[in-house]
Amino acid sequence: MADSSAPSIALAMHSVADRERALLAPYALHSSQSAGRKYPEPEHPYRGPFQRDRDRIVHTSAYRRLSFKTQVFTGDLGDYHRTRLTHTLEVASVSRTVGRALALNEDLIEALALVHDLGHPPFGHAGEDVLNRCLAAIGGFSHNQHALRLVEELETRYHNFPGLNLSREILTGQSFRVRKTPDAGSPLLEVQAVEAADSIAYDTHDADDALELGLLAIDALLETPLWAAAHQRIRRRFAALEPDELRRVLLHELIDWQVSDLLASASHQLALLAIDSPDAARSVRPIIAASRELAEQKEELEKFLHARVYRHPHVLANRIAAQAMLDEMFARLTTQPELLPSDAKRRVATVGLARTVGDYLAALTDRGAQREHARLAGRRSGE
Ligand code: MG
Repeated sequence: MADSSAPSIALAMHSVADRERALLAPYALHSSQSAGRKYPEPEHPYRGPFQRDRDRIVHTSAYRRLSFKTQVFTGDLGDYHRTRLTHTLEVASVSRTVGRALALNEDLIEALALVHDLGHPPFGHAGEDVLNRCLAAIGGFSHNQHALRLVEELETRYHNFPGLNLSREILTGQSFRVRKTPDAGSPLLEVQAVEAADSIAYDTHDADDALELGLLAIDALLETPLWAAAHQRIRRRFAALEPDELRRVLLHELIDWQVSDLLASASHQLALLAIDSPDAARSVRPIIAASRELAEQKEELEKFLHARVYRHPHVLANRIAAQAMLDEMFARLTTQPELLPSDAKRRVATVGLARTVGDYLAALTDRGAQREHARLAGRRSGE
């Protein structure tokens, strides 16, 4: 039988560049403008570079582990609330909506969104604080930096290079999360879309999760300016709502309103400043961001969430228990490295014992850390 696949693949090969030329704005980062990869690779016959990056990230072990890592609330509280993976998917969803509306490069946006929290250790920021303290003498630990180490070094899926060999735009975008220095210029608009979506996602879903878990009452949230304003907006469309309906409608409104607000403000800025290339967008202050009015309201909400949710006694008790567990494991494994699994032991000669233990602990999921803690507790000292 004749090879009928060749013509259609050839057609698709043209379509990455053609499709982007037809669909993307001049200020979007087109795949043809990519600065490429550290280790040059031939182009894929029908997947664009950022599509490949996205696929490489999805197939990592670090990505799969996000499903059992804490966003804010640990797994013992039930199954309703977000995990680090579902948060990541919400960020990808919101940022792609922003990207499509502004004709940005959605493949690049999705890859950036999927990588943005890849470096989180078990137990969220509680775990990060422990590792940062334990590793202070050798540069500390930050989840944003660790995401880069994962994709550049620790994930070994290919025989001819370390890490995933992602496009430079993904690495630079993630580096922006590490540094955030205003004098280095603004990041690409695709990076800005992911940053804005991250903020929209966690502001909204942390409040929703806290309501579901009974850590907050909706009346308290309605006293914050953002929720009060959202309540005003939905009152125009809905008369009386039962509390559960009210919560669902409010959450929908909060996301929709925040996205619409930043799209309106970004479109206005793009037109006003006549932004016509990715470089032009990088030379001005960030364009994809909440309007000043909404930014102030979001800041108030974040202060409220910090005091009432992130510092809730229940969350704090979990934080203390998780930190004690990680502290003990770090101390035990650095004094008895023979207890490390063999693949971790092999890395000690290259990166040193402390970093090896840090990387090993950072890879664990919440439940993996609990299992590992129990395993170590079962091994007598000196064994
Ligand atoms: Mg995030």
